[in-house]
Amino acid sequence: MSSTILPFASTKDQGGKAMTESSRRPIPTTVTPAPPPHVLMFPLPGQGHVTTMLNLAELLCLSNLRVTFLNSDHNHHRLLRFTTVQSRFAIYHQLFSLQSISDGLPSDHPRSGERILDLFQSMSTITRDLFRDLLPSIRPPIDCLISDGALQFPLEVAAEFGIPVVHFRTIGACCFWTYFCIPDMIEAGELPIRGEEDMERLITTVPGTKEFLRCRDLPSFCRSPDLSHPSLQALASATQQSTKACALILNTFEGLEGPILTQIAAHCPKTYTIGPIHEHLRSKLTLQPSSSSSSLWEEDRSCLEWLDRHPPKSVLYVNFGSIAVMTSEDLIEIWHGLVNSKQRFLLVMRQGSVAELGSNTNDTITFPEELVKGVRGEEYMVVSGWAPQKEVLDHGAVGGFLTHSGWNSTLETIVAGVPMICLPYFADQQVNSRFTSEVWKLGLDIKDACTRKVVERMVVELMVERKEDFATSAAKMAELARSSVGFGGSSRQNLEALIEDIRSMKSK
Ligand code: UDP
Repeated sequence: MSSTILPFASTKDQGGKAMTESSRRPIPTTVTPAPPPHVLMFPLPGQGHVTTMLNLAELLCLSNLRVTFLNSDHNHHRLLRFTTVQSRFAIYHQLFSLQSISDGLPSDHPRSGERILDLFQSMSTITRDLFRDLLPSIRPPIDCLISDGALQFPLEVAAEFGIPVVHFRTIGACCFWTYFCIPDMIEAGELPIRGEEDMERLITTVPGTKEFLRCRDLPSFCRSPDLSHPSLQALASATQQSTKACALILNTFEGLEGPILTQIAAHCPKTYTIGPIHEHLRSKLTLQPSSSSSSLWEEDRSCLEWLDRHPPKSVLYVNFGSIAVMTSEDLIEIWHGLVNSKQRFLLVMRQGSVAELGSNTNDTITFPEELVKGVRGEEYMVVSGWAPQKEVLDHGAVGGFLTHSGWNSTLETIVAGVPMICLPYFADQQVNSRFTSEVWKLGLDIKDACTRKVVERMVVELMVERKEDFATSAAKMAELARSSVGFGGSSRQNLEALIEDIRSMKSK
């Protein structure tokens, strides 16, 4: 590729005579611009990870960086089937390409929360070897690898080929920092947790959280009485490994997590907070709208029409994300709590999200007859599948979100200015829900208390009794989120700095 540029090379002509305004004409020169840096992006194969990384990939393409996006074969096929990813990225011409690699699991494996360890184990053996074969064969050669910091092997393999690695953690700073401090918690004897009666104990070895972080709020893997548990060990060491990466990217913003980011900066000085990334992308695409859905399930959009029929802020949206699996007992308690609250609700249940109904993605959820009876259909809607969540949260009829506190859901809800009831399932969600309620005052945390009475009480508190208070704090945080990605905002500036950093990796 070549182009003609018109430089004003000098204010003197070649004979050394000063050039007049009219003689100072541009000299046509044909140069070949340097090819853009080539970035390989490698997410952990999960919905939240793929969505966030694809959004960053698009932000990089918008800045004229070349991106190869490496998905698991399993997710690659679903992305092509359920999204418009190819047309979405077609406008970037040669700058974007998709590749895929095996995650090492059989195709009928559920890849859900209760079996997540299988995924980590198969990737760290089978995928690791495949990745080592793939990396040097990619053309043009990779200048920078942006890999999911939850995976350890990409950094080790890239080091063998001298490729600089930037870690991207798709969790919040609050959980990154808690994972980071696990060795200190163990050394100080704060872990293991000594049973249910120990759950209210405050943790003292996670700086910046001493007043409010209880054993109950630690990442779910910290509940294991066995400190050598593979999930606990893997997450703690993967998080420590980020200090060895060239830089760390976090999908968060300074207005939300400033004090925790200061703690992280002492260990990972080059930390780029560029979030909320979905809003960052939206703010840059105003002139060239594109569908940015990255759903690995088929979206059921009928709930948007149902929402159209309801007054502003009157509906509680209920959704537990892409990997949480609950028991049918929990579901029944949640259902009764919702019905007894007498508030309108939209309940979305992904196939495979209730343990007893099987984890096969083709199983549909049949609600027990006695539950559905007696509730008028206009007052609630159940989607047995997958909703266009960002659009639901942006819908004016939604006044609250009962969420599992996944990090993407948390950020999407913050941007939409909607208050939350948090019912975390696992991993980072226990930490996120504590910060949502205690630090950011954006909602209520009902972790470990999923009874119909508690659900009913909290729904009434959020949607009726404290509605105005929560609406005010949610609106303030939404404004901070939007300004962080607007002109001059911290996340906008940090993205520019990250891009410069990647460009400098190429020149080296
Ligand atoms: N999501 C969606 N429709 C659904 C459920 C989830 O679009 O019915 C999206 C949601 O908007 C978010 C992602 O899936 O972007 C879930 O990521 P999160 O980090 O919240 O939770 P996880 O699924 O990883 O537990």
